Amino acid sequence: MNERELIERIRTQAGRPRGLVHGIGDDCAIYAPKAGEELLFTTDFLIEGVHFQQSTHTAADVGYKALARGLSDIAAMGGSPRFCLVSLAIPQTLRGRWIDEFYKGLLTLARTTGATLAGGDLAQSEKVFCDIVVCGSVKKGSALRRDTAKPKDAIYVSGALGGSSLGLSTGKGRAWKKHLRPQPRLKLGQALHKLRATACMDLSDGLSIDLQRLCAASRVSADLDGELPMFDGASIEQALHGGEDYELLFTAPANAPVPRSLAGVPLTRIGTIHRGNAGCVKIDEFELQPLGYDHFR
Ligand SMILES: [Mg+2]
Repeated sequence: MNERELIERIRTQAGRPRGLVHGIGDDCAIYAPKAGEELLFTTDFLIEGVHFQQSTHTAADVGYKALARGLSDIAAMGGSPRFCLVSLAIPQTLRGRWIDEFYKGLLTLARTTGATLAGGDLAQSEKVFCDIVVCGSVKKGSALRRDTAKPKDAIYVSGALGGSSLGLSTGKGRAWKKHLRPQPRLKLGQALHKLRATACMDLSDGLSIDLQRLCAASRVSADLDGELPMFDGASIEQALHGGEDYELLFTAPANAPVPRSLAGVPLTRIGTIHRGNAGCVKIDEFELQPLGYDHFR
């Protein structure tokens, strides 16, 4: 199969380009923004040997996760997915079935979330490289950012922490499923405005490093004075430092009406934002080291 035939096949799999003026097959896709809409953009690599292994991940798992990571970023800003662009480089030996399964995994998630596949590129390489761009949108001025937390805000997380890291170490059960198929918290992110959330980000690299990033961006410090919602069987280290939970970390005024669960996801108050000492996160009076995932450490 040559490249043109492959693209034609992907276009057929992708179906009608919902929400686009013009979809896959031309030099560019065309998207017409609606009045009063602001666009969000995020891009992510998924690399064999760095983010996944052929021995443990099916092609559908890889396709699903490539999109799920970008969608989690859109969720963190309170956005609705609009479209995605996918560049994929794979070894010659994986052509055919692997590509079909990759797109099956990706498109299943794309269809249920409104992230229409708008285009991409294909190339050959020694390992699998996937680069995905996801575009979402919010009502003008309403995007949730990470640099707007305020002193005295309460800090919350969705779901349970440490599941993905536990799954990666055991390779089985619900925790492994959480690692393979994280659910981007899109509905929750969109509902956070009603709670008067002041700042938000998604937990991709671990609570310790992600909360530090949120505090540094907002020029505030944090005290983890609440109880952490632990994934069943996860250790405190996995809950604090484990990456890829793709839950939402957000702040809201202490008197904001935050329920115990929203959009089907439990919410837990885990701490308080304080003035000064930008980026410092404390737990029981000790400074928490940001041991979460950092590609360049
Ligand atoms: Mg993120």
